[in-house]
Amino acid sequence: MRKGSVLSLVQELRSGRRFLCSLDHNSEIVASIAALAKALGVETGAVSAIGALQRAEIGYYDQVSHEYKTIEIDHPVEIASLAGNVSIRDAVPFLHAHATLADSEGNLLGGHLQSGTVFAAEVYLRELVGRPLVRRHDPTTDLYLWSETD
Ligand code: ZN
Repeated sequence: MRKGSVLSLVQELRSGRRFLCSLDHNSEIVASIAALAKALGVETGAVSAIGALQRAEIGYYDQVSHEYKTIEIDHPVEIASLAGNVSIRDAVPFLHAHATLADSEGNLLGGHLQSGTVFAAEVYLRELVGRPLVRRHDPTTDLYLWSETD
């Protein structure tokens, strides 16, 4: 689809393999899920996870300055929800994930998951098969977004 339409990109993919994975204690969650996708040969997919982190960094993208503000979470939190996807950036599987994290009082913080140290984490990775989705720099947002591969 082209400029002027409601959708900038639509790509039909088929369901592929599905994996349930437990991440190692003390591993870094974003790098671990990306490494998992690479090791399993998943180029495009959907990710969800629950578990707990010992600490985390959440990003908030400032739409004016085009920079991430980092919110440091220096205490243990539950991963109340993690939703993300895997696609290709710079020729390797790249994880884009957002998380909702809960503290000991049940208060929630959330946003773009930049990093987190795993206490325990259970990941559900769903492979999507077809032409892989590829991220490229988008000058409008200054983000790496899915783009037409042609
Ligand atoms: Zn994000």
